[in-house]
Amino acid sequence: MSDIATTIAVKLIQRASVTPDDNGCQNYIESLLAPLGFVRTCVDTGGITNSIYMRPGELNGTLAFAGHTDVVPTGPEEQWEHAPFSADIVDGILHGRGAQDMKGAVACWIAAVAHLCSEYTPMPTIQLLITSDEEGDSIDGTIRMVEYMQANNSLPDAVIVGEPSCSKNVGDTIRRGRRGVVQVRASFLGKQGHSAYPQDADNAIHRAAPALTRIAAIDWGEAADGFPATSCQITNLNGGTGASNVIPGVCEAFIDIRYNPGNDFDEIKAVIEAACADCETNLAFDHVATAFSTPDGPFLDQVCASIKRVTGIDTLRDTGGGTSDGRFLAAAGVPVAELGTTNSTIHQVGEQVAVRELEILTRIYSDIIENMRFKA
Ligand SMILES: [Zn+2]
Repeated sequence: MSDIATTIAVKLIQRASVTPDDNGCQNYIESLLAPLGFVRTCVDTGGITNSIYMRPGELNGTLAFAGHTDVVPTGPEEQWEHAPFSADIVDGILHGRGAQDMKGAVACWIAAVAHLCSEYTPMPTIQLLITSDEEGDSIDGTIRMVEYMQANNSLPDAVIVGEPSCSKNVGDTIRRGRRGVVQVRASFLGKQGHSAYPQDADNAIHRAAPALTRIAAIDWGEAADGFPATSCQITNLNGGTGASNVIPGVCEAFIDIRYNPGNDFDEIKAVIEAACADCETNLAFDHVATAFSTPDGPFLDQVCASIKRVTGIDTLRDTGGGTSDGRFLAAAGVPVAELGTTNSTIHQVGEQVAVRELEILTRIYSDIIENMRFKA
């Protein structure tokens, strides 16, 4: 089954699918899955290719795999030792854009299902939720499939997201949550004037300084649920005209907040607004990503048990890293674990993955599918 994973990964990498272009990857996946009993539902939205592939199971419950066929741009192609869409295999290393993020993992999941089908192994219902809009805006990708499944009452009982979660060895790390992100553009308003006539002006920097001091001093609470404490960083501050004798009428700040599931967007917004309440301020909030956390329990335990059986590794259940599409599924109440290849070369020139990693990941996925049990 491992040869199959590598073969599929090669075919996917050779389809140059720079975000948000799927470039035929999801049709190719359908050609692999249809003979195994999967039915594809296209949820294309806004020019984005989204596919739900579903195979009814013999066992209770639905286990989903979420992934993406789009990849980030190559950067300067001449710097690649192996052309980014060549999918060359040299000395056991598969080279190409998407090898780790995340065509390798998509290929492993398909190979695992194909293997289990060929053995007539009973499985839960299996879904593959594949988008071409993960590396881009993520506006019309996984979220649209989640909406479709909510409307059709077909949400899975749990999902494995194939993002490259591992650091040194396949299976050493899964992600069970991610911090949320809120960004705030704050404009503090005063009245411009001559510095010799302060009675006729209102200094916007003097307005901003105490408000920003209050924001920097906000107590967001402790580390929670395996996450570090919420971090609020003022990352940009601009005020003044450049002239030394002009009292500025406006001062602008940019605030970047990484929050743990102990906080939420409405609370963050209210606290920031309160800190700015005593001056005229325009606050533009952007809730870039919602925090999510899958609690320890049967699902994560079963995933880690599969990794242990295949590799002998005791897996770290991590909450680090940036955002992922897992947040959309978690927001719908689906337990999420991110488990993919190592992430040593993701988004880099010369992205690559060891064929051996694909072999191991396929065996882990296969063990997860074979042994995952959901309550009736
Ligand atoms: Zn990815």
